[in-house]
Amino acid sequence: MAKLYYEKDADAALIQGRKVAVLGYGSQGHAHALNLAESGVDVRVGLRDGSSSRRKAEEAGLRVLSTAEAAAEADLIMILLPDTEQKAVYDAEIAPHLREGDAIFFAHGFNIRFGQIAPPAGVDVAMVAPKGPGHLVRRTYTEGGGVPSLVAVAQDASGKAHDLALSYAHAIGATRAGVLDTTFEEETETDLFGEQVVLCGGLTALVQAGFDTLVDAGYQPESAYFECLHELKLIVDLMYEQGIAGMRFSISDTAEYGDLTRGPRVIDDHVRATMRTVLDEIRSGAFAEEWIAENRAGRGRFEELRRAGAAHPIEKIGEELRGMMPFIAAGRQRVQDVSGG
Ligand code: NAD
Ligand code: MG
Repeated sequence: MAKLYYEKDADAALIQGRKVAVLGYGSQGHAHALNLAESGVDVRVGLRDGSSSRRKAEEAGLRVLSTAEAAAEADLIMILLPDTEQKAVYDAEIAPHLREGDAIFFAHGFNIRFGQIAPPAGVDVAMVAPKGPGHLVRRTYTEGGGVPSLVAVAQDASGKAHDLALSYAHAIGATRAGVLDTTFEEETETDLFGEQVVLCGGLTALVQAGFDTLVDAGYQPESAYFECLHELKLIVDLMYEQGIAGMRFSISDTAEYGDLTRGPRVIDDHVRATMRTVLDEIRSGAFAEEWIAENRAGRGRFEELRRAGAAHPIEKIGEELRGMMPFIAAGRQRVQDVSGG
């Protein structure tokens, strides 16, 4: 098994000796900034002028500066801006303030892996990537826990970049859950693959296709919704807690037999071949190139696909059914409160 790092493996003093700038106050930004501050780290938040997050961050007791001021003042800069914005902000507001001995940190390897950002020699380049959304990074920390995280070093100018990354991970609570070494390549490629093939792309397409199949065969959309979407959470919770085998222990024998015999027919060799093609597009940089070009062109196709997805019949029936289950909507509200902006 790979080596995992826990609290005893980290030197808390390393990050406490740095001046840290957290750029961005969205999902990850608010969580890192608050956890670092509560772990005794000297942290400032860098935001663009007119940011709606300024008030939130100040009310939380954090010091807020402009992006450029924060980058200039700090000797460790954690970039928690949207991946598509990072290059422009780096070129204009971060790069001019980098000095020998500084460190640049990321929570995802996209811009380093695909060559969008190329920091100068003399600067440590590392990653601390929590394997969970920001609101969990924050909530688990306040509860005494943490979110497992990956650390990686792309450039070790100081010879201590890995220890520094581990110390940062410790300060956001990650060493309470486990920290795993990776590389910028592995993190970026597996992260994109996971979200495209399983977590987001594969899952949403599977749910929609199942729903469509039932509705097209004449079943009530309400039944199709409960079967193909609503129940998913119960199954995923079981898998999360006990693995696939544990989940199978909890379902009926009929469900389990159908699972074992029909699952591989749905996700067949053709689907597995498509997965490998999608992985090839990630590794060759073709996906990154396409996504960067889409952003440069104003995101027209992205917005069109988004609208089409929101217009799928499963959304309308889902909204009505969830309206009758206010306890579900309450959970969603809590997540929105802490992210974005
Ligand atoms: P986000 O969209 O929630 O927040 C981004 C923040 O940057 C917001 O405060 C926004 O106002 C600000 N911002 C946007 N454009 C800006 C600009 N041009 N200049 C200055 N500020 C700007 O983003 P996020 O989801 O927290 O992602 C941040 C990083 O963390 C990304 O690299 C992402 O891949 C990584 N990450 C995210 C998650 C997650 O669950 N959200 C998990 C692991 C890693
Ligand atoms: Mg991910």
